[in-house]
Amino acid sequence: MPMDDKFMLMIPGPTPVPERVLLAQAQHLIGHRSGEFSQIMGEITEHLKWLHQTQNDVLILAASGTGAMEAGIINVLSAGDRVLVGSNGKFGDRWVKVCEAFGITVDLIEAEWGQPLDPAAFEAALTADTAKAIKAVIVTHSETSSGVLNDLEAIAKAVKAHGEALIIVDAVTSLGACSVPIDDWGLDIVASGSQKGYMIPPGLGFVAMSDRAWAAYEKSTLPKFYLDLGPYRKSAAKNTTPFTPPVSLFFALQVALGMMREEGLEGIFSRHQRLQQATRAAMKALNLPLFAADDVASPAVTAVMPQGVEAEAIRSTMRKQFDIALAGGQDHLKGKIFRMGHLGFVCDRDIITAVSSLEATLTHLGATGFTPGAGLAAAQAVLMASG
Ligand SMILES: *Cc1c(COP(=O)(O)O)cnc(C)c1O
Repeated sequence: MPMDDKFMLMIPGPTPVPERVLLAQAQHLIGHRSGEFSQIMGEITEHLKWLHQTQNDVLILAASGTGAMEAGIINVLSAGDRVLVGSNGKFGDRWVKVCEAFGITVDLIEAEWGQPLDPAAFEAALTADTAKAIKAVIVTHSETSSGVLNDLEAIAKAVKAHGEALIIVDAVTSLGACSVPIDDWGLDIVASGSQKGYMIPPGLGFVAMSDRAWAAYEKSTLPKFYLDLGPYRKSAAKNTTPFTPPVSLFFALQVALGMMREEGLEGIFSRHQRLQQATRAAMKALNLPLFAADDVASPAVTAVMPQGVEAEAIRSTMRKQFDIALAGGQDHLKGKIFRMGHLGFVCDRDIITAVSSLEATLTHLGATGFTPGAGLAAAQAVLMASG
């Protein structure tokens, strides 16, 4: 179709990829054992530490975000270990499944989808563990299924007070959207994936490992080979990889991280905050109920639960009429919510376009109880006040 290039991804991953990054991937391949590749690897590693605000190792895997998380779990734990997993959505549930697949015993701290995890519940469970049986606490920072940002700083504090447990974090939709100060908060293992905040296509997973994580690695007895982080660490020290890396994605990552450094961490975080606030202001002005409260809203994605109009009808009209992809609900929220991603390579204009298309869509679907133009005005007010 002639207009296919206008396709606009407003989902929380894969996220839009800048043209410079797309073109970088189109280059001829180079050997991954060449000096040229080592130079790229060295630059990327340095930029990754900057993005992760850490001196720790940040390792790169050819895997999706789940692969990075699985690596973060199987490299520091052993079968029969006890862990505390926080779950308030689809991704929290996933870490329970990964742990169970490896014979790790899970104590669950839950919250309803749309509600944040309660740091006090972690504190209570960790304080009660005087025998120090809990080996790790596993949390999803930004729960993409519901658009909730959990209070990672407070949970990390409770873990530090315990003294023994590691903290393993899914930062897949928080890294590159809001601050995840690994060293300041003492996060031991932090996993992320390329198709979210990194502005590159899917295919790479990242795992940051603290010294405490490496000490636990020495004791971990779970079987591993491709995801054994030891060889990745050894190779990274020599600016290389243990296995053939997706070379084109490394080209892409080099360019994307260069763009991120140009914008700066503060610039990246404040842009995401502005996009989030503009999106939320627009939804409120359109009387569309937000699934998560303001004070726990994710910087990456906004979940909306429309009343009187089908969420799936909204998504389908947005796609057909405006070439804009919105995400749907997962599991029990399928068909009940839509999720608008504002993560990665997204700018003010994208929000304006999406909100105005949404208004036209609501009108087209016969929705009532809103004033056309009100959402757009609210979004504009936020964007122009803070731009
Ligand atoms: C996207 C995502 C993942 C990773 O999913 P993959 O499909 O394995 O890349 C993990 N956690 C969260 C919170 C995510 O949003």
